[in-house]
Amino acid sequence: MPLVPMRVLLDHAAEHGYGVGAFNVNNMEQIQSIMMAATETNSPVIVQASRGARSYSNDAYLRHLMLAAAELNPQIPIAMHQDHGNSAATCMSAVDQGFTSVMMDGSLEEDGKSPASYEYNVEVTRRVVDAAHAKGVTVEGELGCLGGIEDGHGAGLTGDEALAHLTDPQQAEEFVAATDVDALAVAIGTSHGAYKFTSEPTGEVLRMDIIAEIHRRLPNTHLVMHGSSSVPKHLIDIINKFGGSMKPTWGVPVREIQEGIRNGVRKINVDTDNRLAITGAIRKVFQEKGSEFDPRKYLGPAREAMAEVVKDRMIAFGQAGHADKIPVVTLDEMITRYSG
Ligand SMILES: [Zn+2]
Repeated sequence: MPLVPMRVLLDHAAEHGYGVGAFNVNNMEQIQSIMMAATETNSPVIVQASRGARSYSNDAYLRHLMLAAAELNPQIPIAMHQDHGNSAATCMSAVDQGFTSVMMDGSLEEDGKSPASYEYNVEVTRRVVDAAHAKGVTVEGELGCLGGIEDGHGAGLTGDEALAHLTDPQQAEEFVAATDVDALAVAIGTSHGAYKFTSEPTGEVLRMDIIAEIHRRLPNTHLVMHGSSSVPKHLIDIINKFGGSMKPTWGVPVREIQEGIRNGVRKINVDTDNRLAITGAIRKVFQEKGSEFDPRKYLGPAREAMAEVVKDRMIAFGQAGHADKIPVVTLDEMITRYSG
């Protein structure tokens, strides 16, 4: 089946009360890991690429890898999403490359670093919504600023600073009315990267209550949690056991994500956990078999390790078992819906 608009997956998730993991990719093995996990669990798929990923892998490679995934897995609906578009031009170039969903992150200026004004955010997001919806493509916006930096994108806020840039529920309501976004990324105290929290997060640093309030005001908008890797200790331990030197760190516990899903979260961005799994698996081969030099002998185990993490998340988020129940809706049909 061709790549599907992300909106279709999120609508189904909302209707049936589950969340969909959105996993970042840069290469073939990561895409294969996600598809292995999806076929094993009958899960719909959101694959996403940041600007950094698009330039690392090249749009043409990425596009053909995604088309291969769709060709080989006709029973699985797959959405391809631009993560953190920094400008209308970035988003529309993604649409031209066949992405079926884009994030316009107008919470930051085009430099991807400086927090932007609310007015700028509304204007640029509205512009992307108009252009993307005209092609049936889904749009995610962001209000408030997350902590940390991901692929060079982010204001670099620390935990305390991030708490000063949380999403305001009243403003979220106005933002969605003014922009007509399909999905909204909210800042509730999470950060990008591996070093999110220095201890197990409590209700004071991870503000799930804000999600509940936004969902109450915007029951028909799909909420998105960024920076939602759980950073499991066992993955850090594997890296360190085989020569790594990662400091102790805490992510967003899966049970908190599940609480978010009960409160309108439909898309959960996970990147770090997969990176940790890949790195641990490669380190293990390098340490245990110093003479190994066939890339398949370490990229293969890395692919397996990432597939295990993705599978765990697909089951925990509730998307497992739904792939074959999702109605097929094309981009053309979405154009009609948006214009109706
Ligand atoms: Zn993000």
